[in-house]
Amino acid sequence: MTETIPFNKPFHPPGTGDRVEVALSSGHTAGDGPQTHRAVSILNAMFEAAGILLTPSCTHALEMAVRLLNPAPGSEIIVPSYTFTSTANAIVLAGAVPVFVDIEPETQNLDFRLVEAAITDRTIAVFCINYAGIAPDILTLKEICDRRGLVLLEDNAHGLGASTRGRRLGSIGRLATQSFHETKNIQCGEGGCLVVNDESLMEAAEILREKGTNRSRFFRGQVDKYTWVSEGSSWLLADTLAAVLSVQLEYFDAIQAERKRVWETYRSDLQDWAHSNDVQIMTVPLESVQPYHMFYLVMPTLVLRTDFIAHLRQREISAAFHYQPLHSSNAGLRFGRVASDMINTLRAADQLVRLPLWTGMTDDQIGRIVAAVRSFKVS
Ligand SMILES: *Cc1c(COP(=O)(O)O)cnc(C)c1O
Repeated sequence: MTETIPFNKPFHPPGTGDRVEVALSSGHTAGDGPQTHRAVSILNAMFEAAGILLTPSCTHALEMAVRLLNPAPGSEIIVPSYTFTSTANAIVLAGAVPVFVDIEPETQNLDFRLVEAAITDRTIAVFCINYAGIAPDILTLKEICDRRGLVLLEDNAHGLGASTRGRRLGSIGRLATQSFHETKNIQCGEGGCLVVNDESLMEAAEILREKGTNRSRFFRGQVDKYTWVSEGSSWLLADTLAAVLSVQLEYFDAIQAERKRVWETYRSDLQDWAHSNDVQIMTVPLESVQPYHMFYLVMPTLVLRTDFIAHLRQREISAAFHYQPLHSSNAGLRFGRVASDMINTLRAADQLVRLPLWTGMTDDQIGRIVAAVRSFKVS
C-alpha cells in the first residue's frame, strides 16, 4: 500500500519554530514588528518598490489595491474570467464593476487583444493575473493602459521571483499583490502583501491598512500623535506569522531550486507523451523567467480530464483542476459585465489539470507521478 501523494504539502524550513518562539517571547506579536521588518527587507531587495505592506492575505491586498484607486460607483475594471474569486470580489467590494474578458490559450492570461474593445468611458483599470507566474504580454498590456489612461494592477499571487523581458512581475503594475497562502511557493499559512510601485499612493495605503489612522507616520516620528484621518480597516499580518514568512524568504533560492527540479522532470519526461496524446503541456516563452509555481496540462476534453484525474487517483496521486469561470457564476452574473466570448476560459476551466508540485517531493514520488501520467492513453 503506497501513500497518496498530495496535490500540495506545506513546507517549513528548519528554524521556523525557533523564529516563531523569538516572535512570541519578544513582546511584539502584533503587526509591523521586528519580524515584519525582517520579511519586508527581503521583499524590498527583490522588488525595489516604493513600499511593501504585509497583509493577512493576498485577498486583503487585492481589496486594498482596488480601494486605493477610489473608484466612483459603477467604475469598471477589466479582469479575466479565469482567475480566483478574490480578484473580482475586490472590485465588487469597492463598488466597481468587474468586466470579464477571455484569456489566450498559450499562457491562460488575459488576452490583451480583447482589452481595448472592452474599454468604456467608465473603465479605470485592468487587472493582469500572472497565471502560473508567466505573463509575456504584460508589457504590451502596460502600454495599452498607459495610452488609454488606465491603471494596470497585478495579481501576482503565483509569480514571486518571475520576470518577463528582464522586468520583474509584481513591479510593472501601479499596485501588485502577492500571496503567502500555504498553497503558494513562499507561505505562512495565510498571508500576503501589497507591492506599491507608485510613491504617491504609499501614505494612503498605510492609512487604509492602519484603521484609517496615520499611525505609521507616528511610529516613524513624522507626526507627534496619530488620529483618524480617513477610512480604513486593519490589514496587518501578525508578527508571529511574519516570523514564519521571514524564514521562508531566507530559503527562497533553495525552495525555488527544489520546485524547479520537479518542474523540469515533468517537462522532460512528459513532453513526448503529451505530444502523442494531443495534450497541451505548459510552456514557458523565451522572454519569461518562471517561478515554478505550477505544472499544468490541458487535456483534449472535459471527459478525458475527468478520466485522467480518476486514473491518477487510482494510483494514489492527487491532481487538481483549477478555476471555474467567474463571468457565468452566480455572483459574476449579478455583479459583472461580459465583454468578449469566453472560448479559452471555458477550455481552461474544463480541460486544465495541475500535477502535484511542492517543496520536499522525493525522486520516488516524482517518478511515480511521471509513470502514472504516461500510462494514461487518450484515444
Ligand atoms: C491564491 C490566490 C489568491 C488569494 O490568495 P490568499 O492569500 O489566499 O488570499 C488570489 N489570486 C490568485 C491568482 C491566487 O492564486
